Amino acid sequence: MCNNHKNLMARVLSVPSAKAPFEKTTIERRELEPNDILIDIKYTGICHSDIHNAFGEWGGGIFPMVPGHEIAGIVAAVGTEVTKFAVGDRVGVGCFVDSCGECEYCLKGEEQFCTKGVINTYNSIDFDGNPTYGGYSQKIVVKEGFVVRIPDALDLDVAAPLLCAGITTYSPLKNWNVGPGTRVAIVGMGGLGHVAIQFAHAMGAEVTVLSRSINKESEAFSIGADHYFATSDPVTFTELTGRFDLILNTVSANLDVNAYLSLLRVDGTLVNVGAPAEPDQYHVFSLIMGRRSIAGSLVGGIRETQEMLDFAAENGIVPKIEVIGADDVDEAYQRVLRSDVRYRFVIDIATL
Ligand code: NAP
Ligand code: ZN
Repeated sequence: MCNNHKNLMARVLSVPSAKAPFEKTTIERRELEPNDILIDIKYTGICHSDIHNAFGEWGGGIFPMVPGHEIAGIVAAVGTEVTKFAVGDRVGVGCFVDSCGECEYCLKGEEQFCTKGVINTYNSIDFDGNPTYGGYSQKIVVKEGFVVRIPDALDLDVAAPLLCAGITTYSPLKNWNVGPGTRVAIVGMGGLGHVAIQFAHAMGAEVTVLSRSINKESEAFSIGADHYFATSDPVTFTELTGRFDLILNTVSANLDVNAYLSLLRVDGTLVNVGAPAEPDQYHVFSLIMGRRSIAGSLVGGIRETQEMLDFAAENGIVPKIEVIGADDVDEAYQRVLRSDVRYRFVIDIATL
């Protein structure tokens, strides 16, 4: 049990108001409850959701904000009743840190759909009434039930992006039963998209990448894509009509939904994980004419996040990352917005 107050002070990168530059400041994490774990954070990935949140694009942002929900680190202390983890363990924290634990979805291990409202790792009000602060931070205190184990085969820097980009793409691929014989298209080859390609390939699917340009083609093939098409070329859409069982859309902006629906086979599904702030538009005939579906998917539960990490370790799935220092985060956000990242920025927390 950690009773030393100084242990709970953490340097963080904080955004004072929407779109403001990051500031280095210090916060105090809560004293450890019996089921809590104190984690020394080593690496935190930069998810495009961090940018949507820090820029206030989704509305209702809580400022000052410390983003970060792709957290990899080492257990530094454990509460008196912790049984799953010990000091020194390699652990991860993803998009949420608490839920009611009693509703039907929590009981099913799908805490992200908690009917009382899941507590996000940052930009949420915790059950104790305090705002949550995320992983752009030296330390974090999290209930053991919301911490996962990082397999030894995964280095901590490349494990970090799996805590959001990994589970957000693994979960829908599993839910829609992707396997040998499934024709899957991944739209957008960014942080989420480039791990989606690897998971779909490892699950045995025939994987097509739909990216705006041909620039990422050779890298797509090197991580498991079977086919690659540039969506800037209109011929792509005529050539691929009626081709896919599942399209996983990871794009952060609105797309021409009708054009993508036309690429689905009968009974095919377009699953959106990309989360643009503005509503999409589509014509209902695009669904009717092929008994097609539009769906969405939100991260994944804790049990499935552990399963995803173990699957990644067993199948050699490794995010491609660019490690940056704490002073480079504002610039990194601009580069993500320009799609100038191959394929995930990860902050080396030692530089804080
Ligand atoms: P990212 O690294 O920026 O990747 C997005 C990719 O989309 C880009 O690399 C680019 O790929 C493509 N793209 C960007 N702008 C585009 C445009 N205007 N038109 C067409 N394609 C465009 O972002 P990310 O971190 O992967 O996140 C993607 C989205 O998923 C974000 O909206 C994020 O908030 C959301 N998200 C959702 C969940 C969830 O649970 N549902 C979880 C995490 C993130 P190409 O260069 O290959 O075209
Ligand atoms: Zn994320």
